[in-house]
Amino acid sequence: MMLAARSASPYNPAARMDLRTLNPDQRRAVLQIDGPVLVLAGAGSGKTRVITHRIAYMLEQGIPADTIVALSFTNKAADEMRERLEKMVGKQAAEELVLGTFHSLGARMMRERYADFELPPRFSILDQGDVYGLTRSALRDAGIYGGRDGERRYDLGAITQRISLWKNEFITPEQALDPARHESEYDEVAAMVYGPYEDRLKALGAVDFDDLVCRIATVLRDDPDALAYWRNRFHYLMVDEYQDTNQSQFEVLSHLAGTRENLFVVGDDDQAIYGWRGAKVTNILGFDLYFPEAQVIKLEQNYRSCPPVTTCANHLIVRNQKRHDKVLRPQRIGGEPVREVVAADGAGEARWVGRKIRNLITEERISPRDIAVLYRSSKQARAIEETLQEHGIEYQILGGQTFYDQKQLKDVLAYMRVLVTPRDDQAVRRALNVPSRGVGAKTIGKLVEYANAYGISLLDAVHRSEDIPGLQPRARRGLRDFSGLVRRAQGRRRVTHSAVAAVREMLEAVQFRKHMTKETGAGKAANQRWANIEFLLRSLERFENRSQSASPRWSDFLNRFDLKRDKQDDNDEPVPKVTLATLHSSKGLEWPMVFIIGCEEGVMPHKRVDSPRMSDAIAGDEEEERRLFYVGITRARDRLFLTRARTRIERGRQLERRSSRFLRELPEGTCTLYDVGQEEAISGERIQSLADAFLAKLAAQIPTPGQ
Ligand code: ATP
Ligand code: MG
Repeated sequence: MMLAARSASPYNPAARMDLRTLNPDQRRAVLQIDGPVLVLAGAGSGKTRVITHRIAYMLEQGIPADTIVALSFTNKAADEMRERLEKMVGKQAAEELVLGTFHSLGARMMRERYADFELPPRFSILDQGDVYGLTRSALRDAGIYGGRDGERRYDLGAITQRISLWKNEFITPEQALDPARHESEYDEVAAMVYGPYEDRLKALGAVDFDDLVCRIATVLRDDPDALAYWRNRFHYLMVDEYQDTNQSQFEVLSHLAGTRENLFVVGDDDQAIYGWRGAKVTNILGFDLYFPEAQVIKLEQNYRSCPPVTTCANHLIVRNQKRHDKVLRPQRIGGEPVREVVAADGAGEARWVGRKIRNLITEERISPRDIAVLYRSSKQARAIEETLQEHGIEYQILGGQTFYDQKQLKDVLAYMRVLVTPRDDQAVRRALNVPSRGVGAKTIGKLVEYANAYGISLLDAVHRSEDIPGLQPRARRGLRDFSGLVRRAQGRRRVTHSAVAAVREMLEAVQFRKHMTKETGAGKAANQRWANIEFLLRSLERFENRSQSASPRWSDFLNRFDLKRDKQDDNDEPVPKVTLATLHSSKGLEWPMVFIIGCEEGVMPHKRVDSPRMSDAIAGDEEEERRLFYVGITRARDRLFLTRARTRIERGRQLERRSSRFLRELPEGTCTLYDVGQEEAISGERIQSLADAFLAKLAAQIPTPGQ
């Protein structure tokens, strides 16, 4: 048996990587450094662990960190991998690794060699909101959105998703127009706006998320210089959750791998859950066809879960026809039975979950961070949030809208950036229309063109807008206003030495609060939004006061708002929190206690399995839903609760609910049924008295006039 040569690495004087903590198959995967390798194995078998250990081992062998690329499915998963690596190899080496998602790799490559992509140096990356905005305006220009009364409005999400699928399969706007590709009216509409949407992106000198992968693939395919450059940079490629890669991601990998073929991928076909977004499970199942030299390693043992959980998972997934046959063999022993919990109604289900979590925390001393509540659709989280709030239990929502995602906070941050990092074109674009100044995509396109022609920033182009020909009078006025606003704020900043004070004045000058209320309506929610803005401004002030120098490192500080969104303040110790997550975003993670709520027909599996709607880009697929449930079950280490309700209120009507077919598929004895129907039942009378109490509480909070 070969053990790591610990002295070889300059990075790692105090290595804590120990190959003896791996089983023989895992060890084989770690030690196989060259050539293509596929690790195909079930949930909890240590695939991700193999990747982190393999990176540590490679560093110990003296392989330079910046030649190793490790890709994970989400930023959160990548962060976790980095944290684990820091412990094993030290902070410096972990920082030098190219570790992130396909998108972050693409962004890095594009920033470094923007000219290869015919992009300006400071191109913007559009977020989903921007993509919707561009699509909406392309639809409007084509006369198909928001038209006369009675005209059909199309779901923007479904349209952008179709365009995204085409882009990832390298189908051009011209090809998409081919009627042979159109299976529904939605395809036709999407095809009509795909071209104009791309034109708008180009005019803005911007890219969307899909471009971060597809355009990389295209450049690697078509530009031999670029290909040679990147192949020379990245020598070792590793991918976690490989079953969910799509075609363009595969192309990026295969171009980069080149003839060296140092490509190491791990995944589980039973956990392929992104088919609806264009992922191709054939990438993993056909890996040894693409790379005939590939070593295929299977891991059989499950280290994560207790036997009752693995039994449940095995019984479920065996029902799928399209899969590699494999079972999870638990390494752990004992464990409590899996519980199926049935409540009389939806409210009863949420209450039971809330009480159970409180008991776990207070009576069994389980840390909130060891508990997760998983669900099929994000709207199911509301009821759980409410019950956790009632019990005063801290929680976080994975992949959901978190604090700094709120539009108004992003707007304020954009103002701040315009002032302290004025070359940040993306921030300028955002701030320009807060509040709306009539500066549309066409005007921005002209500004970008002008800025590129003179090699200046977008903000400087705004200041020189008088010299730009062909602008509409309204847009010209808007630009003049904005330019004046920024210049005045810069002047104030010089006088007061405070950027935050200058931003406060800007917000006042544009009557930000008034506009915000106009957009979102007045009332308690608006007050809360304003309180959040105050919170943000105060934390910016704290940073400003704390920095010793006259020019604080604002760009580093502000970038943290994008990256570390779940912490409200840098000084805060992270508070242990219960995790709420969709089944999709729970992939790859694990918790000792897991609740999967809403195990009912129409929820899990999703109702579109039985009645595919036209606006769904891809009709539901029962096997994919089963895999999704399997992903959820296999997140649990010690205890698993599958909860459901007998009735639920939908659009004001109380409807009967049937238990999920996935529960009914489990053989008797795999789950213990626990009926909390009566225990949590709530009578009509009690509902009325609760409602009265709530209204009374609300009334007490409304100030009387004159107060
Ligand atoms: P998933 O398919 O859900 O992504 P995975 O195959 O990536 O799972 P890991 O997350 O790497 O599995 O490992 C699951 C758990 O088992 C982790 O807690 C890990 O530390 C533990 N584990 C893996 N291999 C071993 C081992 N050889 N000895 C002890 N514990 C192990
Ligand atoms: Mg994993």
